[in-house]
Amino acid sequence: MSRGTLVICGHGMVAQRLLEHLCEGGHPFNRVVVLGAEPVPAYNRVLLSSVLAGDATLDQLLLKDDGWFHGAGIERYYGDPVTTIDREQQRVITAAGRNLAYDMLVLATGARSTPLGIPGEDLDGVMTFRDLRDTRRLIDLSQRHGRAVVIGGGFLGLEAAEGLRCRGMAVTVLHRNPHLLNRQLDTTGSELLAASLQERGLGIRTGVSPAALLGNRRVRAVQLDDNTLVSTDLVITAAGITPNAWLAAQAGLEYGRGIRVNRQLRTSDPAIFALGECCEIDGKTFGLVDPGYEQARVLAQVLKGTVGKQLFRVTSQPTRLKISGIPIYSCGQTRPDEHTESIVWQDHEQNRYCRLLLRGGRLVGTVLFGETSDGPWYAEQIRKGHDLTPWRATLAFGRDYCEQAA
Ligand SMILES: Cc1cc2nc3c(=O)[nH]c(=O)nc-3n(C[C@H](O)[C@H](O)[C@H](O)COP(=O)(O)OP(=O)(O)OC[C@H]3O[C@@H](n4cnc5c(N)ncnc54)[C@H](O)[C@@H]3O)c2cc1C
Repeated sequence: MSRGTLVICGHGMVAQRLLEHLCEGGHPFNRVVVLGAEPVPAYNRVLLSSVLAGDATLDQLLLKDDGWFHGAGIERYYGDPVTTIDREQQRVITAAGRNLAYDMLVLATGARSTPLGIPGEDLDGVMTFRDLRDTRRLIDLSQRHGRAVVIGGGFLGLEAAEGLRCRGMAVTVLHRNPHLLNRQLDTTGSELLAASLQERGLGIRTGVSPAALLGNRRVRAVQLDDNTLVSTDLVITAAGITPNAWLAAQAGLEYGRGIRVNRQLRTSDPAIFALGECCEIDGKTFGLVDPGYEQARVLAQVLKGTVGKQLFRVTSQPTRLKISGIPIYSCGQTRPDEHTESIVWQDHEQNRYCRLLLRGGRLVGTVLFGETSDGPWYAEQIRKGHDLTPWRATLAFGRDYCEQAA
């Protein structure tokens, strides 16, 4: 039975994954329409860091070609953001004046860089690193200027910094927390990362906050909260992301930090769904692509009416990152406390490090730096929650050693 018209607002990585799941075995809609604010179809946003660093080209980013969309019968309109949702009439209106009826609406509008909230953010040369347009501009500016400051030492900030360094700029990273990547790494992991990045030539200042961006028309310096100045030609702000929830808020849908949805990705209006970086589930928002992909899998089943008992579960998703070629993996608890004991293994020569956190013999967290191939196996042990005391002596050496010892 046909389910009428499905409209998807936003065509990023998660919306594309949703379309792919929907089309497996054929979708149940008369019409599927995708409306994207960017001028291009969905592309691999994760690879923008590689493009900035010169390791990938723009044409490698596209997720599916036109033929795929034609074959699947999906209508698409780009460069035309949705500006209004009329819930009473079940219609969406775009900036260019398109007016489309929907039976079901999916919001997949992603997130934007959180403003710093300090003077000078509107100066020329103050940038974000979110999309293709930002990436092209950063590449262009890196050819015309010598110095950059990146505000934020999370994964996005570090990737922006490393990309600009690879383009020949002198880059300084400013991070408020004393430790880089403090959400994903423990203290030792952060220190190893900082040392590796400094060795490559990045300037790193932790435990500092910007108080103002200075300049007449163009940014010239960052003033820090200790009143010191860092001179620069370019500032990239990467101090967190904010879900794009304003469209939903304006339509009267429930929202907090993101658009509030239940575990079937349904908003407070039963005909409207949200997923990816724009949504909020059980008070949690998302900044990595894997949870979005899992949401896409669940939502496809909900939209097809085949969901059964499948719900999206907010679990501690593993984080798998590559910061300037250094693989990093973390899962569960990353910092020791009075209830955990640590098994730590470090190879100074090869710059590899592993911390395993155990509580009552059970693995509750892992941080891997430099060598991460056993990460998924450790994540599985965390999920299973078995007593690993028999493997204790070999646990830090990974799966093969443990299985041979068993
Ligand atoms: C440079 C960079 C590197 C990253 N690296 C990693 C990584 O290594 N690992 C990882 O897990 N994650 C990484 N991420 C995060 C990852 O890209 C996101 O988690 C993922 O793209 C989220 O997908 P999404 O579909 O929810 O949002 P997005 O991919 O951001 O797509 C949302 C789309 O909706 C559009 N939109 C917004 N408002 C409207 C509107 N009103 N109407 C129509 N369209 C609208 C936006 O323009 C955008 O195209 C990275 C992100 C960036 C920016």
